[in-house]
Amino acid sequence: MVQLIDKKVFDNITPKELIDATYEASNNFQVRALFEAKDEILECGKYTENQFYDLLDSMIDAETERKIILNKMKTFQEALFIEDIVDKFQSIPPENVIRDIIYLREQGFIDEQEEVKTKTITKKVKGEEKEVEIKEYFYRYIVSNGKLDIEERHFKPVSIIDEAGVCCRCGYCSAICPVNAIEVTADTLEIDKDVCMKCGLCFSICPRSFSIGKAYEYIKKLDNELNYSEKMGAYLSSYAGTTTKGEIKKVRQDGGIVTSLLEYMLENDIIDAIIAVQHSDKLWKPEPVIVDKVEDLYKTAGTKYANSPSLNILDKAMDYERVAFVGVPCMLKALEKGDLFPAGKIFFKNIKYKIGLFCMESFSYNDIISLVENEFDEDINNLTKMNIDKGKFIINLKNDEEKKVPLKEVQKYARDTCHYCDDLTSIYADISVGSIGAPGGNSAVIVRSKIGEEIYQKAVKAGIIESKNLTDVKPGKFLVEKIGGIKKNKCKPIQLSEE
Ligand SMILES: Cc1cc2nc3c(=O)[nH]c(=O)nc-3n(C[C@H](O)[C@H](O)[C@H](O)COP(=O)(O)OP(=O)(O)OC[C@H]3O[C@@H](n4cnc5c(N)ncnc54)[C@H](O)[C@@H]3O)c2cc1C
Ligand code: SF4
Ligand code: SF4
Ligand code: SF4
Repeated sequence: MVQLIDKKVFDNITPKELIDATYEASNNFQVRALFEAKDEILECGKYTENQFYDLLDSMIDAETERKIILNKMKTFQEALFIEDIVDKFQSIPPENVIRDIIYLREQGFIDEQEEVKTKTITKKVKGEEKEVEIKEYFYRYIVSNGKLDIEERHFKPVSIIDEAGVCCRCGYCSAICPVNAIEVTADTLEIDKDVCMKCGLCFSICPRSFSIGKAYEYIKKLDNELNYSEKMGAYLSSYAGTTTKGEIKKVRQDGGIVTSLLEYMLENDIIDAIIAVQHSDKLWKPEPVIVDKVEDLYKTAGTKYANSPSLNILDKAMDYERVAFVGVPCMLKALEKGDLFPAGKIFFKNIKYKIGLFCMESFSYNDIISLVENEFDEDINNLTKMNIDKGKFIINLKNDEEKKVPLKEVQKYARDTCHYCDDLTSIYADISVGSIGAPGGNSAVIVRSKIGEEIYQKAVKAGIIESKNLTDVKPGKFLVEKIGGIKKNKCKPIQLSEE
């Protein structure tokens, strides 16, 4: 029996294999960059010495595990499906093998071979059953070009994401950078080149760097309790819910589910704080906030359609032990990457609950002002609510008037970066909440994890939420899948410069 990786014992890896892998891991460029910049990192004050060593330790652990996998894969004679590779590593958890293969591919050590097969299925098209051809994709993995000595690809700072025009301004890179070299606002990203020590941590966790979609699918399909949908991700259950609290009804966007769940968790001492979004000193310009009192929570209710770099303030919440995070799908994906690859894990392990909103697109604050002026001839300060419903963009005014225009008229104001986003329903959340699929005054709720189900059921039992199955209401789950599929299909591919 040998060593501990992720606190697990591995019994079929020899001491020599382990020592070799650990030695190779210590040469990893990220590990070296961090180690060499220890003084600057500690001087910067974001991480304590213990946290710094925790990070380094978990990076070496993760890299050692990858080296064990890579070294064994060098002995494979042919490219294999991921399921077959998983079978060959009995003592490493399947989800680790899967995430490691995806990371090794990005490091340039492993090639992915795509195979496309066409099959015919029967499908209802405009009420008529028709035979249609669909494409199925299969992937095999093999050590790069069959070579045994391959040079590691060094991850670049995220300026390459910004230069490619695909940064969604989630703010995670700024929270994670150990030397505070990155500043992200809702509209800009700046890296101080003199301070950046080129560790590439920001690239590892950026939702726009490399895809973790395949790892997500493989990992979720391992869990027999989960339902899996190509269009709305993996989930345990789905509901239509509405708050029973009169005070929340006054401020909510749809069913008031997000605010109700957060209030329930704060009041019942399940969490200590929430990261959410409120209006800044400019109405409708969102500002991420840390809320630790119920009386401040209602200020966060309601959708602000301008984007908020909410992950920016994650490091400010490190003193709270149990935090709930509310955000849009791109932010939940960033958190998932920080969790899969240890760059984010150590410092944000206090994020205990992730509530994801549905999101088709968001707008810059300036473009929201233009939208309201050009399409409605109104001043943004006169609005009490904005909403998207049944193909219309709707505004409510202080004089109780409601105005609407077709959604297609306002889509030109959406941020270009949102066209590179394929997730409508926040597949990486514990609980996803949106309006699509739910009747008026309700939210559609997709519960994706056991902790999510536990909280949702407790809130229902406490009488704060009235809930029905999403399949028992109209329009129901089919619409979530339909719109989820549309978003996925029209998503543009991301191309980053090789330089
Ligand atoms: C930019 C954006 C686009 C959206 N697009 C769609 C869509 O196309 N289809 C759909 O079905 N649903 C969409 N939603 C979700 C929907 O508008 C509601 O947020 C959701 O139904 C929850 O309603 P609720 O009444 O339960 O939330 P509430 O109880 O009113 O709580 C709302 C929560 O949203 C958070 N929030 C508000 N604005 C932002 C923001 N800019 N960024 C991050 N968090 C924010 C607040 O912190 C609050 O916790 C979108 C949300 C956002 C923020
Ligand atoms: S982590 Fe977020 S803010 Fe940073 S570059 Fe990536 S998308 Fe942009
Ligand atoms: S900007 Fe990125 S690459 Fe540079 S130090 Fe920060 S995390 Fe590392
Ligand atoms: S569409 Fe995607 S990228 Fe744009 S705000 Fe929503 S989740 Fe983020």
